[in-house]
Amino acid sequence: EAYLGAIEAGNGALNAYITVTADAAREMANAADAAIAADDIRPLTGIPLGVKDLFCTKGVRSTAGSHILGAFAPTYESTVTENLWRDGAVLLGKTNLDEFAMGSSNETSHFGNAVNPWRRADGKPLVPGGSSGGSAAAVAGGLCVAATGTDTGGSIRQPAAFTGTVGIKPTYGRCSRWGIVAFASSLDQAGPMTRTVRDAAIMLGSMAGHDPKDSTSADRPVPDFAAAVGRGVKGLTVGIPKEYRVDGMAPEIEALWQQGIDWLKDAGAKVVEVSLPHTKYALPAYYIVAPAEASSNLARYDGVRYGLRAAEQGDGIVEMYERTRAAGFGREVKRRIMIGTYVLSAGYYDAYYLKAQKIRTLIKRDFEQAFDVCDVLLTPATPSAAFASGEITDPVTMYLNDVFTVTVNLAGLPGIAVPAGRDGQGLPLGLQLIGRPFDEETLFAAGQAVE
Ligand code: GLN
Repeated sequence: EAYLGAIEAGNGALNAYITVTADAAREMANAADAAIAADDIRPLTGIPLGVKDLFCTKGVRSTAGSHILGAFAPTYESTVTENLWRDGAVLLGKTNLDEFAMGSSNETSHFGNAVNPWRRADGKPLVPGGSSGGSAAAVAGGLCVAATGTDTGGSIRQPAAFTGTVGIKPTYGRCSRWGIVAFASSLDQAGPMTRTVRDAAIMLGSMAGHDPKDSTSADRPVPDFAAAVGRGVKGLTVGIPKEYRVDGMAPEIEALWQQGIDWLKDAGAKVVEVSLPHTKYALPAYYIVAPAEASSNLARYDGVRYGLRAAEQGDGIVEMYERTRAAGFGREVKRRIMIGTYVLSAGYYDAYYLKAQKIRTLIKRDFEQAFDVCDVLLTPATPSAAFASGEITDPVTMYLNDVFTVTVNLAGLPGIAVPAGRDGQGLPLGLQLIGRPFDEETLFAAGQAVE
């Protein structure tokens, strides 16, 4: 009831939720009370969560932030949310996001911008980051205990950094993608967004696990992540990738990074410089691979199988497709479909898509070599603090926000963003830790040391 009250009071300003499920929340909370009375207490019993509106929830509208799915209520539940309910969690509602998770500011949502609860001196509304901006705003604004996010190129970690919250993108395959609206299937992963590293560890423990319904989900045991929190960093070697020291890096980001290095050293870690030589190709490669996969995944929205249908009397099937997709998708989504279709076309495939895939392999190898000499990498999470709504209008400038995060998705590695400092205006700044495949435990241990 406290959280439903907070949503009632705060969602008008933050626009963090697209749909509030008050009835379901009360029902699930009652079930949690009954479970507690019966001594059946699970890791998340009674914990009220926000769920990014990219996860399909049975019988509850699941929009992906798009007009085309604006009235879509799935007949099935995503595996990750099913796992959360199995462990006792309570659904408060579905959180706002960039349309189909394409964006870094939550400004491409069909349902309006989500707003960052933090303010700088000029008082202008700030973006909460994206694409999981509604989840980040809800966690930071106290409109839920924690929320789910998804991360294709930074969509958990960047909004976490912009709102002073914790977000982890697990190793590719750690969480099932079944029932999550697909953006770029080889990059997408679900993860928790929380107030503390410990909460993230507990929640990931519930979300993760093998799922026969997702052939890319990893058939390996889920460790006790929460046990790794508090393990400390003694004996760990932390790598500092020199290529992340990009030209024109803001002095406050540089200072934050140094602060993180000092904290880890003081806590007993060894710090070494490492090189990831292909880093500069990551962003261009990502913005080829992600739209390519998106153009293919979004072909299913045709006015027949899901959601919106826009057709007029006498239309043939082609006109119906065209009208539906023209009316149903926003500008950024259309841009991605066009880029993706272009780079996959005969004659351009070798020059763009195949080249990007080769770069992806080189980036993965860079990390493998770095992990020969260190256990975890430390970088800034974002190149700046949260910016104002409407401040970035050029898509390529917007894409630059992902410069520190996309490498992790291209290589399939786990990465965590942890709030670690403030900028000159008092806005939160985050550090990122990147780990070996399936070594989220080290991220939780080291994350707590910089939190
Ligand atoms: N900002 C990136 C993009 O627009 C990442 C989005 C994401 O991780 N879903 O593609």
